[in-house]
Amino acid sequence: MAKKTDKAEIIILETADDMPPMPASMGSMRVNKTASWRSIRPIILEDKCRRCMTCWKFCPEPAIYPTDPPTIDYDFCKGCGICINECPFDAITSEKEGK
Ligand code: SF4
Ligand code: SF4
Repeated sequence: MAKKTDKAEIIILETADDMPPMPASMGSMRVNKTASWRSIRPIILEDKCRRCMTCWKFCPEPAIYPTDPPTIDYDFCKGCGICINECPFDAITSEKEGK
């Protein structure tokens, strides 16, 4: 059971059962499909990809699977572009969503 402190807005969680049904960060868990946020679509260039999995490590969703080569789950990719920036081999390009 959650306990309220003197400050009404602060709730102390005593057990895992006290966790709210929704994630604290509404957009970073797999329960939320975040594809609708996307304005750009990252695309992995298979011939340039060196399978280092840096994109997989940095994707905040996670929307990249560590396959060979890695694959992007477009149901969850929100188009943040982190994978594009972090890929050390320039193996991820992007196109405008809906193109
Ligand atoms: S970071 Fe780039 S090179 Fe490394 S696995 Fe991902 S796409 Fe391939
Ligand atoms: S743009 Fe890249 S890093 Fe961002 S959510 Fe999509 S796959 Fe993950």
